[in-house]
Amino acid sequence: MRRRRDAKIIATLGPSSNSQEKIGELFDAGIDVFRLNFSHGTHEDHARTHGYIREIENQRSRPIGILADLQGPKLRVGTFANGSEELETGQRFVLDMTDEPGDANRVTLPHPEIFKALEPGAQLLVNDGKIRLKVMEFDDNHAVTEVMVGGIISNNKGVNVPDVILPISPLTEKDRIDLAFALDLGVDWVAMSFVQRAEDVVELRSLVGNRAAIMAKLEKPTAIKHLNDIVQLCDSVMVARGDLGVEMPQEKVPVIQRQIVRAARREGKPVVIATQMLESMISSPVPTRAESSDVATAIYDGSDAVMLSAETAAGDFPIEAATAMNRIIIEVERDAYYRKSIDASLPAPGDTVADAISSSLHHISNVLPLAATFTYTESGFSSFRAARERPEAPVIGCTPYQETARRLALVWGVHAVLSSEMSNVDEMVANAINITLQEGFGEIGEIIAITAGMPFGRTGTTNMLRLTRLKEL
Ligand code: PGA
Ligand code: MN
Repeated sequence: MRRRRDAKIIATLGPSSNSQEKIGELFDAGIDVFRLNFSHGTHEDHARTHGYIREIENQRSRPIGILADLQGPKLRVGTFANGSEELETGQRFVLDMTDEPGDANRVTLPHPEIFKALEPGAQLLVNDGKIRLKVMEFDDNHAVTEVMVGGIISNNKGVNVPDVILPISPLTEKDRIDLAFALDLGVDWVAMSFVQRAEDVVELRSLVGNRAAIMAKLEKPTAIKHLNDIVQLCDSVMVARGDLGVEMPQEKVPVIQRQIVRAARREGKPVVIATQMLESMISSPVPTRAESSDVATAIYDGSDAVMLSAETAAGDFPIEAATAMNRIIIEVERDAYYRKSIDASLPAPGDTVADAISSSLHHISNVLPLAATFTYTESGFSSFRAARERPEAPVIGCTPYQETARRLALVWGVHAVLSSEMSNVDEMVANAINITLQEGFGEIGEIIAITAGMPFGRTGTTNMLRLTRLKEL
């Protein structure tokens, strides 16, 4: 099984999709990486879902990436007796610290640090800023607000307090427990929410070690200030437009999105565009034209992946959303202008042997039509660097490690394959030819480029480039 596109798709799992059957359908519709959102669900739920994904991975014989998304210091209201309530503009609404389920007049906000840091007149933005509350009076455990903009408020909706600096660590107690749990499950990527500085990534790395790769979610104004440092220290970034558009004026989001994509592509770190990509598909079987255009723009800009959130987690049309995204990406990648704009925005290679080889892949695939660029990789690094060059021919990432293959599911253009450790060049060439033919990437007579590091079995040694013709062996 091979996909006919380079950019990848992440789907968030939730009540609409966390059965084995739906996960299988989502995979078949084009999902490359599944996101377990630790803002919702119990550990039991996530363990079960994780098991289903691995089962589908087994059945389809394709490595699948699993991303554990830590909630971070996301402030959320509690639950409601009726699940949801409608707030009228102009009414009073109370936030407090009791354990009672909420109603039309009050709900729990279980964050003492907010009440301590509030100021009169401060705005509380609920549900991605759709509902605005203005603080009238408050003490250490409750706040009376006026509803400035009403709407539907439901269980566990997010709260942003853009006017107030909250003294909160990026890894909460819950995150640390969830992280240990997710690492034990064996997830491939860990996403850190509300990253503010490079030190946040360093802290997470010290806890994760090399058990998973790290994605920094960029959703705070301070993260944008430290963008380059953060990009250098993490393994990938997410443009988390939901919170970003609440924490900052939303008209800045498209500009910042491109700034992040450029910074990430420069460093060769996969960049994911997330949130509201096909939002209307939560309740409609087709996207709006504007949504299709938003997905297309992310692809034209050279993003590695686009993400579905509520569309697949809680919407009525999860499979349709995945299918729509898959189709939009394929259509963009067919456009000759797409190739031109990707080439025009290519960052300069670094001055390393690995980059000299990776950048020649791009050049060679312009001179000779290559069936594939075949990268042997231990840690995944060579495939990341090859993908950074956005070569016209697909990148096959061949690795003896399942963890590496699964991580590569997120990376632009990379088709990961597991294969045993090679012991000499002849074996390596024969193996590359066989895999390329078996996986449907080329026909007899076509040419592939192979990159590898010698001595074999050591990471960070990419130093060899070999061109070979596909033939019957
Ligand atoms: P979230 O992250 O869904 O965990 O909030 C994405 C975003 O903020 O856009
Ligand atoms: Mn967020």
